[in-house]
Amino acid sequence: MPFRIIRNDITKVEVDAVVNAANNSLLGGGGVDGAIHRAAGAELLKECRTLGGCETGDAKITKGYKMPCKYIIHTVGPIWQGGKNGEKEQLYSCYEKSLQLAKDYKCESIAFPLISSGVYGYPKDKALEVAVSAITDFLEENEMDITMVVFDKSAVSVSEKLIADVKKYIDDNYAEEHSDYASRRPFEAGLFKRNELSKGKKLSKAMEPECCDALPFDFDTLDESFSQALLRMIDEKGMTDVQVYKKANIDRRLFSKIRSDVNYKPKKQTAVALAIALELDISETQKLLEKAGYTLSNSLKFDVIIKYFIENKKYNIIEINETLFAFDQSLIGV
Ligand code: ADP
Repeated sequence: MPFRIIRNDITKVEVDAVVNAANNSLLGGGGVDGAIHRAAGAELLKECRTLGGCETGDAKITKGYKMPCKYIIHTVGPIWQGGKNGEKEQLYSCYEKSLQLAKDYKCESIAFPLISSGVYGYPKDKALEVAVSAITDFLEENEMDITMVVFDKSAVSVSEKLIADVKKYIDDNYAEEHSDYASRRPFEAGLFKRNELSKGKKLSKAMEPECCDALPFDFDTLDESFSQALLRMIDEKGMTDVQVYKKANIDRRLFSKIRSDVNYKPKKQTAVALAIALELDISETQKLLEKAGYTLSNSLKFDVIIKYFIENKKYNIIEINETLFAFDQSLIGV
């Protein structure tokens, strides 16, 4: 993997290949197509003229010219005609063919607009569903950094029921004022520096939380770093590394770094993604996060949303990221 959704202008995204939602002539048009041609300059049109157009569902590649990418992949999405005229298969094929071309040209990263969802009228939620399914299928077998670039947040319409459930959960749990949280749970609040803990220092009596007896805190595991705890949990769950980093929406190279550097301190989004990939429950997640100096609290919307998914045993990263995106929070994994 990884796969992310961002809100941006696709002509500004720095990747190896940018996908253009073109028309059959490949000679430029409105929407994304117009923006890409303007950003790439007149040389792009010259090369496009040599390509002889493109069938719906197919893709062709050109250089990137003045765009901040090596290549532009031009694909032609279907015009929405109600959904019963093979639109889904054609749209799926746009993603499949574009990804195959990117792979043939050794691209490591690619950015897609939401093909067909503008002038061609494909409903945005359905268009995103097709995009996610084609991209997920590709990532099962391949490694590539894939970004969906959407212009407006409404393009990502997570099911209304899910949004309503998450909203309710946030209302019930989100603590704007988390008065005594830090004083009650010094470990979780990150008041102790990680290296104090990881070096196996015994805490002085004064530093111990009052409720220490009640906390099953095993001091013998203080020496275990995040990386060691992660690898142990992967073994305990009977998963392979590949299954874990793919499910966590994490780049293979980042995973290798975590694996090989015992003291690697991941970003919180990475640590959370790994907990999700391992399908940990809340208390296991907190324990893993603590190893990297983090916690899930009720004072951050991001944390509350993650807790919602863990408590409801919903471990699909794409669904989680679509929801985080809808609530303007940073995504996990990537
Ligand atoms: P199509 O003809 O395939 O429908 P459009 O260019 O009309 O293509 O729109 C495809 C999607 O791209 C729409 O959701 C539109 O909002 C979005 N879009 C338009 N311009 C940009 C841009 N510069 N960057 C990213 N997305 C864009």
